[in-house]
Amino acid sequence: MNTTLLSADKDPMGAAIADFFKHHKANRLRVFSSQFDEDEIPVKDLFRTEEQMPVLERTAIQLAKGKILDVGAGSGCHSLILQKMGKEVHAIDISPLSVETMQQRGVRHATLINLFDEHFCDAYDTILMLMNGSGIIGKLENLPGFFKKMKQLLRPNGCILMDSSDLKYLFEEEDGSFVIDLAGDYYGEIDFRMQYRNVLGESFDWLYVDFQTLSLYAAENGFRAELIKEGKHYDYLAKLTLK
Ligand code: SAH
Repeated sequence: MNTTLLSADKDPMGAAIADFFKHHKANRLRVFSSQFDEDEIPVKDLFRTEEQMPVLERTAIQLAKGKILDVGAGSGCHSLILQKMGKEVHAIDISPLSVETMQQRGVRHATLINLFDEHFCDAYDTILMLMNGSGIIGKLENLPGFFKKMKQLLRPNGCILMDSSDLKYLFEEEDGSFVIDLAGDYYGEIDFRMQYRNVLGESFDWLYVDFQTLSLYAAENGFRAELIKEGKHYDYLAKLTLK
């Protein structure tokens, strides 16, 4: 499990977020992967308003209660909405430029820290992980470590609200069947690398996990997974609670 922070010279998404905040526009945020063709993240999407958010995210915002942790908060889009609703929220991110921008945008409690840093300990009623929030876990093999950390951070009766996608649609044949190599790595384990202007980040692992697999790992690690809502395209919002 990666427990480090990004350095400002290798923080492409943070650079894009800071640029968009300052100038109301940004260059292309490019995304590379050994498994996919080059892609882009529209930087303005990282500043989405509640109306512009997918229904899974809006549902998570409505369900979040008590003391909330926004994990990998980015530009702070969810934290700012929760704050306006009068909810208590703590935003964390490993991107120094994102945390700086969140503070400038008015997120009152934004901290530069890695979720998996052993020194990060506090107690929350709701832990939010949004925009394929399972990604931060990196690989399936990290799920036990993730649940261990969640046990340390959750108050009694607390929950994790996480969105993810089942990438099986990438393996769909014309007849509607799915061809997945079960002997290979889990099909939701993706490597990404981003670039913004001349700022190139390090490659990182990003986990997309289908609900059934998430439920199995949750059960093995003392949690119960509930499917709260399904999105339009193999995406879903899950609620994880201690058994
Ligand atoms: N939640 C935001 C941003 C999603 S992008 C949104 O919905 O718009 C994922 C974010 O997670 C990035 O800002 C990245 O820097 C941060 N991140 C990745 N790994 C992390 C970790 N281990 N701990 C905390 N933040 C992390």
